[in-house]
Amino acid sequence: MQWEVVIGLEVHAQLLTRSKIFSGASTRFGAEPNTQACPVDLGLPGTLPVLNRQAVEHAIRFGLAIGAQVAPVSIFARKNYFYPDLPKGYQISQYEQPVVLGGTLDIAIPAEKAGDPPRIRTINLTRAHLEEDAGKSLHEDFAGMSGIDLNRAGTPLLEIVSEPELRSAAEAVAYARALHGLVTWLGICDGNMQEGSFRVDANVSVRPLGQKEFGTRAEIKNLNSFRFLERAIQFEVRRQIELIEDGGRVVQEARLYDPDADETRSMRTKEDADDYRYFPEPDLPPLVIDPAQIEAVRNDMPELPSTKRARYQGELALSQADALTLTSSLASAQFFEAALAALP
Ligand code: ADP
Ligand code: MG
Repeated sequence: MQWEVVIGLEVHAQLLTRSKIFSGASTRFGAEPNTQACPVDLGLPGTLPVLNRQAVEHAIRFGLAIGAQVAPVSIFARKNYFYPDLPKGYQISQYEQPVVLGGTLDIAIPAEKAGDPPRIRTINLTRAHLEEDAGKSLHEDFAGMSGIDLNRAGTPLLEIVSEPELRSAAEAVAYARALHGLVTWLGICDGNMQEGSFRVDANVSVRPLGQKEFGTRAEIKNLNSFRFLERAIQFEVRRQIELIEDGGRVVQEARLYDPDADETRSMRTKEDADDYRYFPEPDLPPLVIDPAQIEAVRNDMPELPSTKRARYQGELALSQADALTLTSSLASAQFFEAALAALP
């Protein structure tokens, strides 16, 4: 039996802002635990969230860069669950009406044969929405106890969701790299994966080649390197195929990748949206973005990778693959242009 792999990625990009998405507390990384969590981040009674304008502008920037629709009205929603690092008992996110809808991203998948040009694909995005990060549980620092650091609580995130169009670990990595290149290019995320500024959840399923319906997916959470992303998917694909071929069934669940053992392990069975009891956030008005604000952000944008690419192909007659490689990060494009300018 031949199997086809189906992957959709959810990426959490931490937005570069000085203060948190709903409070004035600092987002600086590496401070002493719990020194950057104010009453709003702690969810104390009587506090109210106020939306960070910069976070909204970053979301608009992203939407424009991928050719998406920036929603004129989007709605914040409460996603209810209990966890020690979530003092309010809910996360403020967006659900039915996200700020960014649709859009596409061109990716370059390295050829298997050295020297061959990469394969180019255009991947559709589903949506991107604004939300707050949770705090952090520290399980290793205290014997027999867990510590809670709430400095990260309320840090602004853009969750970027792809359509289930990726067909291999290599394509998933190419997509994640392209997205990482774009958000850092736009200056909306520092892209520091070690510090958790860019984290990937990989939804993975398999189906017999030719079958139309998707198989059941498992979601591998919080991958913070491209190498782990690739290995986790490769392991997960093998696991699912072996499981099905042995007469078993894949269950919908969240899994964790353990790089030391190079395997994924079950974390928890996946909640359905119903379990979160989403409802519109009563403490925040709808987010209204008018055309003038979109234009202001557009006028303030750097030249986009897609624009540069078209220019390189048109003016310099470069191949699509070369143009894509040169614009995979702002640094490489700037290096290329400086080299070009230095030519006699
Ligand atoms: P949730 O938020 O519950 O994880 P979503 O519908 O937002 O669910 O989907 C999350 C991601 O899962 C998307 O990137 C989507 O493309 C991907 N996805 C959905 N179904 C499948 C599937 N059967 N196999 C692989 N990926 C999938
Ligand atoms: Mg998910």
